[in-house]
Amino acid sequence: MLEWAFILVAEIGTAKHMKFTSNPLPYQALLEKRTSQEIELLVIHCTELPDLATAREYGERILYPSGTGNSGHYYIDSGGEIHCWVSPEFIAHHVAGHNQNSIGIELVNTGRFPNWFHSQQQTPKESYPQVQIKALTTLINQLCLQYPNLKHIVGHEDLDKRTVASSDNPNKKVQRKIDPGPLFPWDTVMQNTTLINIGSNAQNKHE
Ligand SMILES: [Zn+2]
Repeated sequence: MLEWAFILVAEIGTAKHMKFTSNPLPYQALLEKRTSQEIELLVIHCTELPDLATAREYGERILYPSGTGNSGHYYIDSGGEIHCWVSPEFIAHHVAGHNQNSIGIELVNTGRFPNWFHSQQQTPKESYPQVQIKALTTLINQLCLQYPNLKHIVGHEDLDKRTVASSDNPNKKVQRKIDPGPLFPWDTVMQNTTLINIGSNAQNKHE
């Protein structure tokens, strides 16, 4: 009994330490709903945009007949501030073919911006600040407490291997998605989570 009481207090403590701002996208209520039991996978993205305000503009764009668009559930700014734009009870459009059972976390990072598909500019230059990664691991651990079936983690680049013609040379192909990319510190993240990485970029620490 004492043990259970201790676990409960520990969980509330964790929840209290995670600061996040909830600012739902205008179309959130038009997204399909799901049960919390369906949530099994975390997908890590980076925005490949200059800042959070630009990411918001992209997120708000209506792209589908349902009146919805593309976005992650959570956005983490470079200073570590966490924003929830789509509550995980809704299915956000953040990764082709894997939306139904996943939560998308977007890190604000320029990636290949603004020449996403230029064949000579496929290497991202902006590293991920420690404070942003700390916020990410705090969020991941909180989501693991909230969603008991959440077991796996992966980078977007591992779920979308499609290529497109490069913008400078139509005969050259480049990766459509490279996020979160080679500068993302998978080792640090995997040392701080019990989730299993199903991608190619990280070694699991808890198998
Ligand atoms: Zn992505």
